[in-house]
Amino acid sequence: MHPKPKNRPALALCSECGLCDTSYLRYAKWACAFITQHVEELEERAHGRARNLDDERELYFGVHEHMYAARKRKPVEGAQWTGIVSTIGMRALETGLVDAVLCVGASPEDRFTPRPLLARTPAEVLAARVNKPTLSPNLSVLDEIPAQGIRRLLAIGVGCQIQALRTVQNKLGLESLYVLGTPCVDNVSRSGLQKFLDTTSRSPSTVVHYEFMQDFRIHFKHEDGSIEKVPFFGLNTKELKEVFAPSCLSCFDYVNGLADLVVGYMGAEFGWQWIVERNQTGRQLLDLVRDELDFTDVIESGARKAAVQQGITAYDKSVTLPMWVAKAMGIVIEKIGPRGLEYARFSIDSHFTRNYVYVQRNYPDKLDRHVPAFAKKIVSQNQLPH
Ligand SMILES: Cc1cc2nc3c(=O)[nH]c(=O)nc-3n(C[C@H](O)[C@H](O)[C@H](O)COP(=O)(O)OP(=O)(O)OC[C@H]3O[C@@H](n4cnc5c(N)ncnc54)[C@H](O)[C@@H]3O)c2cc1C
Repeated sequence: MHPKPKNRPALALCSECGLCDTSYLRYAKWACAFITQHVEELEERAHGRARNLDDERELYFGVHEHMYAARKRKPVEGAQWTGIVSTIGMRALETGLVDAVLCVGASPEDRFTPRPLLARTPAEVLAARVNKPTLSPNLSVLDEIPAQGIRRLLAIGVGCQIQALRTVQNKLGLESLYVLGTPCVDNVSRSGLQKFLDTTSRSPSTVVHYEFMQDFRIHFKHEDGSIEKVPFFGLNTKELKEVFAPSCLSCFDYVNGLADLVVGYMGAEFGWQWIVERNQTGRQLLDLVRDELDFTDVIESGARKAAVQQGITAYDKSVTLPMWVAKAMGIVIEKIGPRGLEYARFSIDSHFTRNYVYVQRNYPDKLDRHVPAFAKKIVSQNQLPH
């Protein structure tokens, strides 16, 4: 028997968030970030106020009350960073704050094939640690919420998943919803991931996890514990341009503006995680692990503008530098380039500008209503390629 064809109302722009695999498909036209962009309205609903576009930090990083750089004093082994996300999930269950945690484990056959689940025990949350760096149908489990009698839920997810979740949250029969987000950019399908690994790593089959780091290199961790570092500027841009999912090339919610609490790394110094507490619910989540964390200052230094502009032009022209030049550039930029929040702005500027151009070229009729006002303002500060 053939599997039932999947409903994909967003067509090529589908980010596989999983909503359309459930009975909530009927809300997709409104909930899907790539059909109806309404992130600003949802931001006001989730946080009780709009993003202040005149404040540079809010313009780039969204509504927030506090920002921190922190790490777990005892890192969780095998986590993406130090395991703050998994620990919050575990504590939320242990303290009885929630009945279940929506997170994503891996297929037993392939560590990078995501398997979303409603975890009911701390052990299940722990087993779901580490990124599955692919589009993940996290929301495909939504129909199980009433079926399992879940009334209080902690959902972990990336921006597109959270926008759809926020749109339907009042229809889920929940007493309370806590949202723990991660930033997300340049995601790929499972086959796209393979192409990326094959093109970029010296040993694609042994990669356990990887991250685009603040030192302008991709760090691949291999099964034997070794770390391989490849400079961003040495990537085979021509080959890789086709790898990123069209949804990610049209996304303007890098920093997960609708989550109560966001845990990433991009605004922190190398080795630290970056935490954005958007509202009181986010504070409640962070309080679950505060005693287990070391904190340091959130810093910002260097100037991003020149690097942003060079990157935009190089990407558009598909320039691939010889590896020795790329390595040398990486070393220089790491020494004098943007750090902390300025690095995060570098990354947001570069991705929003690239994505704006992508939508302009491929979906010109959608451009105006699809790009939120905060992204338009950010993009207008940079020079678009011709
Ligand atoms: C696809 C992706 C791209 C990211 N890109 C950036 C970035 O550009 N900049 C930045 O600062 N941070 C980014 N992050 C976040 C960062 O890599 C770490 O996940 C975050 O700092 C938490 O680390 P941790 O050690 O606390 O997580 P862990 O304790 O290891 O927990 C990771 C959690 O992520 C969830 N998860 C795994 N894969 C997915 C997925 N595909 N979709 C949704 N949820 C998932 C799991 O359920 C798990 O609970 C990204 C995360 C993902 C999943």
